[in-house]
Amino acid sequence: MQSMQRAVINTPNGFASCASEPILLELSEVIAQHLRPNLQRIDAEGVYPKEFMHLVGTLGGFRQGCPTTLGGAGKGIKFTMQVMEEIAKECVSTAFIVWCQTVCSWYIQNSENDHLKQHVLPKIITGQALAGTGLSNPMKHFSGIENIHITATPYADGFILNGTVPWVSNVDTDHYFAVGAKIVETNDYLMAIVLGGSQGLSLGSGGHFIALEGSSTRSCILRNVFVDKDSILSSPCENFVQRIKPGFILSQTGFGLGLVSSCVELIKRSNKSKRHVNRFLDDQAEDIEADLYAAHHKIYALADEIDCGERDARPDLLKEVIQARLLTSQLVLRASQSAMLHAGASGYRLHSAVEKKLREAYFVAIVTPALKHLKKMLSDMQESPAV
Ligand SMILES: Cc1cc2nc3c(=O)[nH]c(=O)nc-3n(C[C@H](O)[C@H](O)[C@H](O)COP(=O)(O)OP(=O)(O)OC[C@H]3O[C@@H](n4cnc5c(N)ncnc54)[C@H](O)[C@@H]3O)c2cc1C
Repeated sequence: MQSMQRAVINTPNGFASCASEPILLELSEVIAQHLRPNLQRIDAEGVYPKEFMHLVGTLGGFRQGCPTTLGGAGKGIKFTMQVMEEIAKECVSTAFIVWCQTVCSWYIQNSENDHLKQHVLPKIITGQALAGTGLSNPMKHFSGIENIHITATPYADGFILNGTVPWVSNVDTDHYFAVGAKIVETNDYLMAIVLGGSQGLSLGSGGHFIALEGSSTRSCILRNVFVDKDSILSSPCENFVQRIKPGFILSQTGFGLGLVSSCVELIKRSNKSKRHVNRFLDDQAEDIEADLYAAHHKIYALADEIDCGERDARPDLLKEVIQARLLTSQLVLRASQSAMLHAGASGYRLHSAVEKKLREAYFVAIVTPALKHLKKMLSDMQESPAV
């Protein structure tokens, strides 16, 4: 009962109807029982919360943004983001792998590949199969930041893939994940879904991180990995990228906003004993909270517009999505810094709640599209509105 109330209380003003959604109330129980007791193990020992992921899938957490015609709940990505928000209040690492799972489903539902829609999508949206996304590299490539890392050579009724992507989260041998590749001797690209255990694919260690250790982030080395036409999301993929981009970018704000909410709670907690001195700090709980409400208002409106991705986006939607994602990164950095400054020395202890928030906040700001990438996109749009 206590955790049910929590889901309602932590939801910003004006969004109470969303908080009373049965799925968020159930999720709150599952978080309390199966995630909260393992936070330290996930963060410090890098334990991957596999059982929790399957539970989130069972209660419908991955099917909210998928149309009913494809077996989803058809509620739109706002609800996917709210699932992430609830989880991110406790653990951004776990909320991020929920994003990985749902964005992989986003690619498939927005593709024209009936095989993936019929045979792979149902497993991902129910959590029966887990899934990731290795599209940071193509996203950065299309923004002129780095070279494409994977090549595709036409072979039989498919392609042979070669290359390396250094970090793909929520990946294992029995997980699916999305990759992007340049087709050799052409100016075209493809995007495809591969299985982590495919022949020729090696999953290495992604190294150790200051947070996100429990995200099963692996390096993926592809040596002559064959993908047949049934696994191709799109080729060529220019239009496909434009279609998935707004949902890809906006849905990431889910794990950012959840983190901000939890920082506000921590600031208020610190103020119970230290308000007399904390009141001199620049970013007060009320300031962050007001900005969080405004961000929610803007972001949920954009999410409602994107819905399940079935409609064509209006021309300036992407720009507003990029601005909203940038705003989220900036707010996360402010909120986590303020939580540390409010907590003082008690927050500076190893494994304190606020030091975890600081480490998680930097991830929100560096994962693709990173804060600098978002600023580059906005600058490019300024120079050439068609970008
Ligand atoms: C914990 C964690 C989990 C992640 N999970 C995923 C995931 O699930 N999926 C995914 O796709 N990605 C994932 N990533 C990758 C992430 O999204 C970013 O793409 C990654 O952090 C690299 O971005 P960056 O901003 O550091 O690169 P940038 O700093 O923007 O660097 C861009 C490129 O410039 C190159 N470069 C360096 N010096 C020069 C130079 N002098 N001239 C030209 N180029 C140069 C670099 O090699 C790099 O490729 C993850 C990263 C982390 C840390």
